[in-house]
Amino acid sequence: MRYKKLPIYERTKPAVDSMNEECGVFGIYKNDDFIEAADATFYGLYALQHRGQESAGIAVSRGGRIEYYKDMGLVAEVFKENVISDFYGADIAIGHVRYSTTGRSLVGNAQPLVISYRNGTIALTHNGNLINASGIRKELEKDGAIFQTTIDTEVIANLIARNADDGIIESIKKTMSKVRGSYAMTIMTKDKLIGVRDPFGIRPLALGRIDETYVIASETAAFDAIDAEYVRDIEPGEIVEISEDGLKSYIQCKKEKTALCVFEYVYFARPDSYIEGVSVYGAREKAGALLAKRYPVEADIVSGVPDSARPAALGYAEESGILYKKALAKNRYIGRTFIQPQQYMRERGVKIKLNALRRNVEGKRVVLVDDSIVRGTTSKKIVEMLKAAGAKEVHMRISSPPVIAPCYFGIDTASHEQLIGAKNSVEEIRKLIGADSLHYLSAEDLIEAATEGKQDFCTGCFTKNYPIDVIKEEGKGNKLILEQKGC
Ligand code: AMP
Repeated sequence: MRYKKLPIYERTKPAVDSMNEECGVFGIYKNDDFIEAADATFYGLYALQHRGQESAGIAVSRGGRIEYYKDMGLVAEVFKENVISDFYGADIAIGHVRYSTTGRSLVGNAQPLVISYRNGTIALTHNGNLINASGIRKELEKDGAIFQTTIDTEVIANLIARNADDGIIESIKKTMSKVRGSYAMTIMTKDKLIGVRDPFGIRPLALGRIDETYVIASETAAFDAIDAEYVRDIEPGEIVEISEDGLKSYIQCKKEKTALCVFEYVYFARPDSYIEGVSVYGAREKAGALLAKRYPVEADIVSGVPDSARPAALGYAEESGILYKKALAKNRYIGRTFIQPQQYMRERGVKIKLNALRRNVEGKRVVLVDDSIVRGTTSKKIVEMLKAAGAKEVHMRISSPPVIAPCYFGIDTASHEQLIGAKNSVEEIRKLIGADSLHYLSAEDLIEAATEGKQDFCTGCFTKNYPIDVIKEEGKGNKLILEQKGC
């Protein structure tokens, strides 16, 4: 087989043109002697690894001094045992895993971000994306501020430092009234752990407890990893301050309608996590069952694209009464194919990651469930593979609507030009991926599956309805210009 040699410029081109980041955050305020804050943070981050695989970092406060370590790589690669044990005895710790989709894969952009200012040192971790960061950055630069990274988090850190004379909580409140977009954060001072969630609650953030010790994490799966109990979600617009005085809560900028990212339920979060008290696995299973009700088809087996679509496929199988069988085997030792910079690499990546199980599909009519189609690379390759392995028919069922627009709030969904759903009808997509039939779940059904209609969501990537007041479509590819009035 011949492999195409890629020109250098193609190899270095970033995967997408947007500035999204996918991240996981963690924090712990220790009040029990049997807990080692650094160990708990390490295991918590390990459980959040799916939210970012590019860099990992931990900052601790020990005896009033903030220390940190961060590097490119997976949690277990960055934190060899001696690095963690160097942090033993810490009172507070925060941690972060990150994956950025731009070409800025620099260790300098890794988090926690630790800054010293006139009132002390703070460490910050951030999951989300600000839509007005560059404007604020320019204003601050005009005022003499010097930035060392290209991440939005540094803008937040700068604003917090500037307003710090009134105390950390007041300065966070002022910062929240200035920044727009999504942010779920853990912030650490020498004696406090603070959790902050943006007023729309776009990215998840939960509060947990081990006896008297508090923990904060992007997902509850991190609590399970350290035997912490899930207390509740941090509310949209809430600041949770944990110190020797216990836990205090402040609400800043209450919204009538919140906007949790529905894609967390579709793909991003772990199936064993609970968001707003709802099981992610349960939401996926229900979405699959609804898909079976809406789009039944005569078939011999139902299967899911591993791993994220399995719960939805099981829901489809149960509702339809069609046998669930594995149609694809997955190589467990491979990372993400979605993020490969070039289309050629992505296609090769799918083949390395997934392979058809000839024994189960030969001569069979297969219903194949996936959670989403973004560029269409995965579906096209999989249909091809199943047919090559002898499948008689392949009926694709997608447990979310077509992705028609990019995410501006922290999920990597590719740029407008790369989205197969932005330019093609469902029938055109079906032809492009070579399936015998193709159906997507509607946004209404997805929301029904996720929380039985009890929760407001951001469904921007599926509907272009973003949780902001003004959207202008401009220029080539109908690029969306986002503005948000009020915090
Ligand atoms: P694509 O091949 O571009 O159509 O991507 C769709 C596949 O990637 C599906 O199998 C999804 O499970 C998965 N996927 C969807 N969104 C993301 C994301 N943000 N990051 C990584 N993988 C994703």
